[in-house]
Amino acid sequence: MSLYDFLKSLGITAGIHLMLHSSFRRIRAAFPGIKPGDVINTLKLLVNGNGSLIIPAFTYCFKKNTGRNEIYDQKRSHSKVGAISEVFRNTRGVVRTASPTHSFCLWGIVKKYIDKSNAPISPLGAGSVLEWLAQQQEAYILLLGADFKALSFGHYIEIKAKLPWISYSPWEHLGVEPTAISTNGEQKLIEVPGCSKSYKNFETFLLQEHQISTFSYGELHGYYLSLQKLLKDGLSFFSTHPDKLLCDFGTCPACDSRWAYYLEQLKKRQT
Ligand SMILES: [Zn+2]
Repeated sequence: MSLYDFLKSLGITAGIHLMLHSSFRRIRAAFPGIKPGDVINTLKLLVNGNGSLIIPAFTYCFKKNTGRNEIYDQKRSHSKVGAISEVFRNTRGVVRTASPTHSFCLWGIVKKYIDKSNAPISPLGAGSVLEWLAQQQEAYILLLGADFKALSFGHYIEIKAKLPWISYSPWEHLGVEPTAISTNGEQKLIEVPGCSKSYKNFETFLLQEHQISTFSYGELHGYYLSLQKLLKDGLSFFSTHPDKLLCDFGTCPACDSRWAYYLEQLKKRQT
């Protein structure tokens, strides 16, 4: 089966707004000889010009108290989230947003609504590309060789669900400050996205409840998810199981710092 036929069989169709998270290594194992550009062209062909293709090109250019800052350059900074993302960034007709920490590359209809200057102070919250996606009825997320640990949309759900630690930046142990830094200068941030490893618990829950199903092609596994359904299920799960959205205590410095903050808030509430 060709990649085109396979993706079409998942239900990817013209006119949808599609966000991709992928592992090119795993795609290539299933479709030998394929190149990142082939994957991009196939997806463009499927969603066509009436839809959108959106791929994160995050660079995490935060200010650091060590002084060793990596400064975001909208044109030149390489994406840190995969080979396909990096090739897509340099594809004709693709616009990259200005967010120094969490930029997105956009193709298709979305470009009419999101300007390349987009850099909200809440990088994955209000005013972000994820919020625009959440307002679209025909929005989907394709995890291709990736699981929920790659689900950036989870950060948006955390903010919408008003989880108690969203305003607490958990990266202090790395010297990271809640400030973005780019060739345009510095920008104070709010709601800095934390660790996403525990979104695996959300994935397990949805599988157990038969709310999602995984697809496979040889050794390539993934999910094709309706964003509206994910938002609805996510708001419900995140609100009722906040403890499932941090790594187990003692296993992750970022989540440990949020645990400490969270437990302090709970104690305050009790007194
Ligand atoms: Zn963690």
